[in-house]
Order: sequence, then structure tokens, then C-alpha cells
Amino acid sequence: MSEVRNVIIIGSGPAGYTAGLYNARALLKPLMFAGYMSGGQLMLTSDIENFPGYPEGIGGPEMMMQLREQAERFGLEVHDKNVERIDTSSSPFKVYVEGEEFQSHAIIICTGAEAIWLGAEGESEQKGRGISTCATCDGAFFRDQEVIVVGGGDSAMEEATFLTRFATKVTLIHRRDVFRASKVMYDRALNHPKIEILTFKQVKKWLSDENGLTGAVLEDTQSGEVSEISCSGAFIAIGHKPITGFLEDQIETDDSGYILAKDFTMTSVPGIFAAGDVVDTRYRQAITAAGMGCQAAIDAERWLEDNIH
Ligand SMILES: Cc1cc2nc3c(=O)[nH]c(=O)nc-3n(C[C@H](O)[C@H](O)[C@H](O)COP(=O)(O)OP(=O)(O)OC[C@H]3O[C@@H](n4cnc5c(N)ncnc54)[C@H](O)[C@@H]3O)c2cc1C
Repeated sequence: MSEVRNVIIIGSGPAGYTAGLYNARALLKPLMFAGYMSGGQLMLTSDIENFPGYPEGIGGPEMMMQLREQAERFGLEVHDKNVERIDTSSSPFKVYVEGEEFQSHAIIICTGAEAIWLGAEGESEQKGRGISTCATCDGAFFRDQEVIVVGGGDSAMEEATFLTRFATKVTLIHRRDVFRASKVMYDRALNHPKIEILTFKQVKKWLSDENGLTGAVLEDTQSGEVSEISCSGAFIAIGHKPITGFLEDQIETDDSGYILAKDFTMTSVPGIFAAGDVVDTRYRQAITAAGMGCQAAIDAERWLEDNIH
């Protein structure tokens, strides 16, 4: 049986590495399981222009390597492995990783949330090359261009309205004529001169050339009629799925699976903390995830001091 750790961090995005950096500098010898996507969601993007400290912008993978190096320099131990499940029924907690059992007094969960994609033909080739799931992140790349937004909830309305700052035209595409969005958000999009709303339409296929996205083939969800729309950017806003399945309901979540923070960053189980997109239904940015990682690390440190050491 392995030694009992002070802190195990699950997930290696900005939240995880920041938590690791703080706990390592506090001499807690944290152990991190980086998971199936070592470095997190930013490994999927080429240009990050809104993380402070990089005046020229930086590539996602490069930034995540730097975050890792910085935390490892102070002693964060990183295993590029996936956590299968945890057992919170007794202290120390147990963490099961690819057939091995680890024990820890505290756990920080930083497993993020995956954007839900449409899965239309040609989508995987254009991810990050014209098709995005984050207008705050990528909207500025589409200055003076035509873009589309897919979705019918508040996020879709918010993304469409935000994109009017850059784009010449925003077409919002929704497969029904009933919108989940609140009336105020819907009205704001409906009345915006740069936004056109197309109902009963779904993306059947993405169109592209050697320079990137050029448009989409749309299908009418009632008649099946097919049409084409041209655009150089597309934003899919049909929701996110937090990665919490491996917790097997041991930690309280909301109906969508996002971990609920109970006492600052502490979850419903004392000694287990959560940070980043796995708790965040609102901001979903690298800098906010990093900020929460810092908070969780400090909360874990204080909890260990009060309850274990
Ligand atoms: C294409 C794209 C572009 C983006 N661009 C920007 C941008 O320009 N600026 C910006 O601020 N934000 C951007 N974002 C959003 C940003 O990436 C997220 O807000 C941020 O990465 C969230 O950080 P996180 O640490 O919470 O989780 P994530 O980065 O999602 O990391 C989650 C981690 O958990 C790990 N994990 C999951 N399950 C397990 C498990 N069972 N065991 C172990 N580990 C596990 C994964 O391997 C991963 O390392 C972008 C997102 C995408 C998808």
C-alpha cells in the first residue's frame, strides 16, 4: 500500500496546475493525476490572447507545458494517468488509478467540463480552425466576417450578442422554434440588427477549403429541405458536460452534474475540494479556472492544518 498523501489533485488544466503549484510551494508534496487529456482543454487551441502575462499571445499546448514545468519545479508529482473512481466513505480517501490504489487526506477535483459538439460531418477537421465552442475565447479572430451560432439557450443568445462586436453578421441557428433562453436574452438577440435567427434548421455538414471554414449545409428539421449558408466562423453553444461521472454520486452536484461548492471551494464531503470548469457554469475561462485552483489549494491547506496535522 502506498503512503498516505496530503493532497491528490485530479486533472491537469489551469485549475489543477495552479492548485499543484500552490500546494507544492506549501510543501504538501501534492500528487496529480493528469488524466486522459494531459494539459486539459487548452491543448486543443492554438492561440490564447486573454491569459495575462503573454503580450504576444501564446499557443495552448505551450502555455500548459509552462504551467506544468512551473509546478513541477516546486515539487508537484505528475502521473499521466486517469482516475477510475474514488472512495470517500472513510478517511483517508482512496483514489483508484489504472488498477492501483492511492490514499490521501485531501482531494482537489479539477476535471473540467467538455463542450458538447454537434458531430456534423467535417466537424472534427475544423475544430479550432473556424469552429469553436467559446465566443469569449475566439470571437476576436472573426473581425469583419460572417459567423453562425448554433443553439437555443441563454449561452447561444449571449454568444451571438457578444459576437456582434466583431462580426458583420451573426446567424443564429436553432432546430426548433421554441427557445430555452430567457425572454430577455432572446429578445436582445432577436432585436439586434446584426443578428438573424433561423429556426427549424440543423447543421448537416461543414464546408471548408484550404484556408478553413467556408460555410455549412443546413437541413430543415420539418421538411428535410437542404440549403447552404456561408460563414468563416461557427460557434456551437449547445451546452457543456462536466466530467464527474467517475465520482459515482459520492459528491453533491447540480442536476447537470456540476460539483456544488458548499464552503468556499469545499464540496459536500469535507476534505474534498473542487475548482475550475467542473464547478463553473458561468465563466469557463483559463484565468478563472486558475484562480479557483489557487483558492482550492489554499482551502485544502487550511483544512489539513485544522483537521489532520
Ligand atoms: C478549443 C478551446 C479554446 C479555448 N480557448 C480559451 C482561451 O483562449 N482563453 C481562455 O481563457 N479559455 C479558453 N478555453 C476555455 C478553457 O480551456 C477552460 O476554461 C479551462 O481549460 C478550464 O480549466 P480546468 O482546469 O477547469 O479544466 P480543463 O482544462 O478542462 O482540464 C480538465 C483536466 O481533467 C482531466 N481529467 C478529466 N477526467 C479525469 C480523470 N478521471 N482522472 C484524471 N484526470 C481527469 C483531463 O485530463 C484534463 O487534464 C478554451 C476551450 C476550448 C475547448
